[in-house]
Amino acid sequence: MPAKEKTISASIDIVSLKAKIRQCDVCTHSEKPLPVIPNPILTGNANSKIRIIGQAPGTLAHASGRPFTDPSGVRLRHWLGVSEAEFYNEDIFAITPMGFCFPGQDDKGGDLPPRKECAPLWQASLTQAFENIELTILVGMYAVKAYLGPRARRNLTETVRHWQDYGPHIIPIPHPSWRNNGWIKKHDWFDQELVCLKKTVRGIIANETNMNPI
Ligand code: SF4
Repeated sequence: MPAKEKTISASIDIVSLKAKIRQCDVCTHSEKPLPVIPNPILTGNANSKIRIIGQAPGTLAHASGRPFTDPSGVRLRHWLGVSEAEFYNEDIFAITPMGFCFPGQDDKGGDLPPRKECAPLWQASLTQAFENIELTILVGMYAVKAYLGPRARRNLTETVRHWQDYGPHIIPIPHPSWRNNGWIKKHDWFDQELVCLKKTVRGIIANETNMNPI
């Protein structure tokens, strides 16, 4: 097959893929169905340069239909050194969590893990579809386990501590949830990672905005 044909057959149209994902209701047919009507939440387009792979939408994101419209989002934007406008600019960021729908909560009011059905169905196609990603930020242990596999250290703390082993195109970070306040306070070396993360993100945005002002 000529090289050109190979390229065409290998590419996945991101618009069609997102439309397909938004119609997904796989988790309503499982033994433990989603407690809500499926509302798959993700962002990104063919130009996106930075991909954020988090866990799953919480109640506020589920209600708003936008990822990270909650205190975790405020902290994540602070860590990245970006404004809301930049964060939701799909020419810059693609946000594709391990589970696209709000998974419900446990007895203590904490969010349940991302649905296991979701990532095997969609993540590989998304990786193929986003052809211009320069940096992937793995947010929390579910994304770290899925994307680093055996390259991950024995736990999230050690993986994040050795973040330089995975660079420059992948950076693992903890989830910005309030549940990790103790972790963040205890591990002050994480500030060093944030300096690098901000610098990398700002560098990509600077290139992007030169081409396409926001
Ligand atoms: S969580 Fe993922 S697999 Fe489950 S219904 Fe939503 S989009 Fe489909």
